[in-house]
Amino acid sequence: MYNPASGEVIEQVPLSSGAEVEQAVVAAADSLEAWAATPVMERARLMFRYKSLLEEHLEELAAIITRHHGKTLEEARGEVRRGIDMVDFACGAPTLMQGRTLRAVTREVDQDYYRYPVGVVAGIPPFNFPVMIPLWMFPLAVVAGNTFILKPSERTPLGAVRLAELFLEAGFPHGVLNLVHGSGEAVDALLSHPQVRAVSFVGSEPVARHIYQRAAQFGKRVQAAGGAKNHIIVMPDADLAQVVPAILNSAFGNAGERCLAGSVAVAVGGCGRALMERLEDETRALKVGPGEQDGVDVGPLIRDEHRRRVLSHLQRSLDEGARTVVDGRQDGWLERPGFFLGPSILDRVTPGMAAAREEIFGPVLAVSHVSTIDEAIMIANQVNYGNMAVIFTSSGRAAHQFRERVEAGIVGVNVGVAQPFAFFPFSGWKGSFYGDLHLQGTDGVDFYTRKKMVVTRW
Ligand code: NAD
Repeated sequence: MYNPASGEVIEQVPLSSGAEVEQAVVAAADSLEAWAATPVMERARLMFRYKSLLEEHLEELAAIITRHHGKTLEEARGEVRRGIDMVDFACGAPTLMQGRTLRAVTREVDQDYYRYPVGVVAGIPPFNFPVMIPLWMFPLAVVAGNTFILKPSERTPLGAVRLAELFLEAGFPHGVLNLVHGSGEAVDALLSHPQVRAVSFVGSEPVARHIYQRAAQFGKRVQAAGGAKNHIIVMPDADLAQVVPAILNSAFGNAGERCLAGSVAVAVGGCGRALMERLEDETRALKVGPGEQDGVDVGPLIRDEHRRRVLSHLQRSLDEGARTVVDGRQDGWLERPGFFLGPSILDRVTPGMAAAREEIFGPVLAVSHVSTIDEAIMIANQVNYGNMAVIFTSSGRAAHQFRERVEAGIVGVNVGVAQPFAFFPFSGWKGSFYGDLHLQGTDGVDFYTRKKMVVTRW
């Protein structure tokens, strides 16, 4: 794989064959009975140890992320912290795994439910959060008594390797967490394997849909989080001093490679001109460069082919009539080593244009101008995705109206990246999620456990 800041190959990992996937499934299946029978307090104790190790190794994990993903070190540290939040949550297993009971449902009859693990579970994360998204998956799965097979992105697999080493160092038995590498072939082997009982996926929309359909076809429980196109509505009464930095972070943080990227700003009721002036000035002041350099705001993209895809989106928007206010193709970034692209702002983007509907997954902010909040909500709702939508306003009434009518599973009010904390579900709608039970929070607990109802008469 590459260091995206230099374009050099830095490491090779094997692409696991069907036989290696089989070995991992066998290891997970062989460990299941003993692990599921391990008392929940013991599982939680190991998870506490894992959490301390992750904290001790935070800087090392952040450096690994920056080295093969490219994001800035500060962003990488934030990623590890958010991942540890999920481990924190999983440490609450003795409470989270409790069932419920109701005595005397009818005369002499009590009813109880207990939670049991699902079995062998597979997790398939995307490239853009190589540490945080694996941590959305396996910690909660294993404290629930499942065994796990993690298949990280073939573009950023190194975070998962270190997470797995630290997992063993924490004292978890061999076979509880298993790692396989590769892409479609390894995933297909997991999806069709009869001993894999559930699949947790995060990635692009077409692959999420494929995983959902295929895993369901084989009778597996599945949660599949897909892509996004997130709108940020700016009302005329919003405080621009708060709005502008929030939009810049939302659109250009992580070089726009974020499923919670606010990639379309919709200026309502004539606030567009003042907004554009400040956005333009502050975007020009952003520093592009290698993620480990101090003061860098925007790191490189993951691969040259992805950069070319982003560039073709930019060109298509211009062909469709958008206007570039800031052009990230300038400043010589395309000629330097590495996969850099400066931040771009496209103005006069209308709802029919691809830049208003399709996920670009790069440092490109589209801006539209409308007269009313109704039009703004309509623009946000027309897309096939529903991951996040944000409003900036000082009106409680406008915020309430927006929250009620916008078709997105995560809503931000005066917050640019409304990432739900680990103890709440990451609740995308429409093409941003296939399945019923989301990742994180109590949805995650339900996803990784099966309920057994016991009806008793004495
Ligand atoms: P991707 O869909 O290309 O890959 C995701 C995973 O699926 C990887 O592990 C990859 O190896 C595997 N994969 C790829 N093609 C496959 C195929 N044909 N069959 C089976 N498996 C396959 O996604 P990506 O480019 O790694 O990640 C970026 C995407 O992830 C963006 O669309 C982004 O919005 C989305 N994402 C969503 C969320 C969310 O919570 N909704 C979070 C992060 C990223």
